[in-house]
Amino acid sequence: MTVPLSLTLPHFDEADPDAPGQQDAQEQDSAAGNGNGASTLKDLLPDSALSPSIVLQLQAKPNGISSNAQYADASTAANKPEVTNASAAGARQLQLTGSAWVSRFPTSTSVNDLTPDFKGKVSDFLGAIKNAGGSISISATYRPPERAYLMHYAWAVSHGTVAPNAVPAMAGVNIQWDHGDDKASKQAAKDMVKGYHMRHAAALGSNHTKRLAIDMTITGMTGKKIKGKNGTEVEIKQDSDLYPVGASYGVNKLINDPPHWSANGH
Ligand SMILES: [Zn+2]
Repeated sequence: MTVPLSLTLPHFDEADPDAPGQQDAQEQDSAAGNGNGASTLKDLLPDSALSPSIVLQLQAKPNGISSNAQYADASTAANKPEVTNASAAGARQLQLTGSAWVSRFPTSTSVNDLTPDFKGKVSDFLGAIKNAGGSISISATYRPPERAYLMHYAWAVSHGTVAPNAVPAMAGVNIQWDHGDDKASKQAAKDMVKGYHMRHAAALGSNHTKRLAIDMTITGMTGKKIKGKNGTEVEIKQDSDLYPVGASYGVNKLINDPPHWSANGH
């Protein structure tokens, strides 16, 4: 068992599941998370039971994801009958992949789900836009890591880049990717990709899962004057004139991703 190939890829495009026609084209956050939640297996087994390679794999897992296959590896390595692959898997009731998953772990469209700091910056920027006479339609703010996981692996399985039985498990997402039939597994993943309106692979972690990004469409600003953070008025002649204004509030544009703004511009 190796760390999934996806972890070594530096960038992923991310489709916006909630706004057909609007896409996050290029969210370039690292796919690797902080590994929180990856201690599940360590909690079950004494340190001595884990081989260095398994520990390394656990630490390398993003977003609390651990692998079914690693449960099996560790059980063998530990040789402890009370901790078996069956008991680890049996603790969860798994449901097969398919479009029913799409409505679960929904992406928020509320600025209240952003971090307090970024929420303040966004609110100030949105207030300035409204004061100038513009309109805002928000399509995404916080995306639960569970949703990012489902999107990421639905894409990978449907495209054959990850085998259904090689998808790592994620705590709290009791999903079974392997239908026992490759064609059925791929089709179910494809149904999910369709339900999410994905046109690109999705990152496991992004500024959306960190509550540091907002997708929005801003209209009605051409010809209007808007105040930057320091109070200076800027006339908007084209969309890109809004970018430095947003930056003055700490809301930075990812240029090649039309609806996407974030704390760091990624
Ligand atoms: Zn976005």
